[in-house]
Amino acid sequence: MTAPPKLTMLCWNDYLGITRGRGVPTARLDQVRRNGLGWAVAGTALDPFGGIVDNPWGPMDEVRQVPDFDARLTLPDETGGSTLDMVLVRSRSREDGSPWECCPRHILETALSALHEETGARLMVACEHEFTYTHPDIAPGAAFTLDSVRRYRAFADALVDAADAAGLAFETVEPEFGLGQVEVCTKPIIGLAGVDAVVLGREAIREVARRQGGTAHLVPKLSPDAVGNGAHIHFSFLADDDAPIGFDPDGSHEMSALTSAFVAGIFEHIPALTALCAPSPVSYLRLGPQHWSCGFAAFGVQNRECAVRICPSPDPDPTARAKGYNVEYRPIDATCNPHLALAALVYAGLDGVRRGLSPPPIVETDPADLDDADRQRLGVVPLPASLPVALAAFEADTYLAGCFPERFMTVFSALKRFEIERAAERDDAANCRAYADVY
Ligand code: GLU
Ligand code: MG
Repeated sequence: MTAPPKLTMLCWNDYLGITRGRGVPTARLDQVRRNGLGWAVAGTALDPFGGIVDNPWGPMDEVRQVPDFDARLTLPDETGGSTLDMVLVRSRSREDGSPWECCPRHILETALSALHEETGARLMVACEHEFTYTHPDIAPGAAFTLDSVRRYRAFADALVDAADAAGLAFETVEPEFGLGQVEVCTKPIIGLAGVDAVVLGREAIREVARRQGGTAHLVPKLSPDAVGNGAHIHFSFLADDDAPIGFDPDGSHEMSALTSAFVAGIFEHIPALTALCAPSPVSYLRLGPQHWSCGFAAFGVQNRECAVRICPSPDPDPTARAKGYNVEYRPIDATCNPHLALAALVYAGLDGVRRGLSPPPIVETDPADLDDADRQRLGVVPLPASLPVALAAFEADTYLAGCFPERFMTVFSALKRFEIERAAERDDAANCRAYADVY
């Protein structure tokens, strides 16, 4: 017997990638449908550990958080517990209902509209959620084994049920390489909904794990020597008539002109992008050469040590081949806000399109094995090695920083500086523990 929801959480994924929310009795939802709930925007500056950083907003600054029922996750609990019901909000001005410029979903929608207007493309997004599943009664099995899944079979089954019930369409559930590591891949979805699904997918994974008596740790590193948890994003482009316009059988590595220039734009801004996509101090314990997360700004086909890789379809049928073709961005993890991360990727890509840039050459080996001359020839450079380096690159990237509202930049930088200072007071192991408590 499953219970209907009693409480609906009006939620948002904040600048730290933390989903926060406020509850409304489900029976009262109609009363907040139009104008939502008032919210003091200073809350945007909440830090990960229970405090708040300096921000430009005072006690009178408020937006309306209006539920968007297209972005809803309702998870009944087959074991009789309460149903999780969450809806993502749009933050709107309380004066005239116009979008609040610092709302991450609005920032992404603006970027997606620019992409569509300038290229005719709609973005399709899928995510690989990696996480470590811990349970007091379950010892993890070996990587990719049936034994491993057998040990947490109830969790795996519940994940599939939850995804089906919530329309999240998980495509695979795998026992990954790390101890207790699981990977859930999601189906590609168009536009804002595809990115909302990343937020909702994370919460579904956490909720199902908790109901099983376990915990899903999406933190990039559970401990300094653990295998890292990534959140790779796969993207492709569709025209309005659903034609796959990221693919061209005659293009270099089957890239259309759009894909080629878009990828070039990503490389143009990759150090800055890292600040938004791998935005916590522990993100940099995950990134690095030769642990398959990627340590270099390199471009490859199927090459998992590259920051960006083309994933060609294995299907020889021309229609299926065009449809399956996609590009993966790897230096990204679950401490990011996916709306902000994808907005940044889109703006970077658009810069490549507007300027007609060409991507770096394809690297056909592990970039760590290249000598300096080859790295230079192939345009391979290391990714930022720490959050301070990435943040400085973002702040110095006048184009990319300029794509975001000034007040967003102020608060994002203040939050990141706070995290950098805190992290400097602790060793790596303590930082992993602190972030594992939050993510
Ligand atoms: N766990 C790796 C990472 O941190 C990714 C492994 C893979 O799926 O290629 O990104
Ligand atoms: Mg993986």
